[in-house]
Amino acid sequence: MIELTDDHLKRYSRQIMISQIGQAGQQKLLQSKVLIIGSGGLGSPAAYYMAAAGVGEIGLVDYDQVDISNLQRQILHNTKRLGMLKVESAKQTLKDLNPDVRVNTYPIRVSKENAEEIISPYDIIVDAVDNYATRYLVNDICVRLKKPLVVAGVTNFGGLVMVVLPGQGPCYRCVLPEPPKPRYKNPSELGVIGTASGIIGTIEAMETIKLLLGVGENLAGRLLVFDGLGMYFQEIKVERKSTCPVCGNITANGT
Ligand SMILES: [Zn+2]
Repeated sequence: MIELTDDHLKRYSRQIMISQIGQAGQQKLLQSKVLIIGSGGLGSPAAYYMAAAGVGEIGLVDYDQVDISNLQRQILHNTKRLGMLKVESAKQTLKDLNPDVRVNTYPIRVSKENAEEIISPYDIIVDAVDNYATRYLVNDICVRLKKPLVVAGVTNFGGLVMVVLPGQGPCYRCVLPEPPKPRYKNPSELGVIGTASGIIGTIEAMETIKLLLGVGENLAGRLLVFDGLGMYFQEIKVERKSTCPVCGNITANGT
């Protein structure tokens, strides 16, 4: 167990005073390992708030470099870091915010070949990717490895979030068994306002922190849909499908 120092007690005082967190919860957070796949629009707020909260070890996966068109929403990066690897830029921002946090960087594309090795050491996985192929791959590996997964996506003024607890609830394929036909060739052709990424990425951080602490109700089996233009949230109940190609035949005890 990590001993809390005076600096810890001061830095995290406003959350330690919450009854569901306390010093024991803070110690749990400092010993937790979260992998965030994507250091862009969703990964930025998700990683920033998790680092601020003192999640002890954060893994960042992104093969891309900072481009000027990213800065409208990817708040871990800045104009001085154009051309830098996003994971390096993100690491600098997170370390400046909170030196307590260890940041592991993976400047690679997640693939069938490497996904299991990258995901295995972490407690919870956060999907902050911008394409269906990676989202489905990460879902399938997390179900197989029984890793809790927070899934999210954004478009225009809105987005959605769901939690996948393998063996206990539905996975992303229970919502949509196969990736939908893309309406665009490249994710960069899809519009998004930075505040939508901020709201949805922040909800991903909130769900991850609650799962790490084991408190509250999470979004397992509940697809939360956000419409920022109409300004409302809608919840869609999702059941695990026995016909799901990935989790259909998995039970709580893993048989
Ligand atoms: Zn499923």
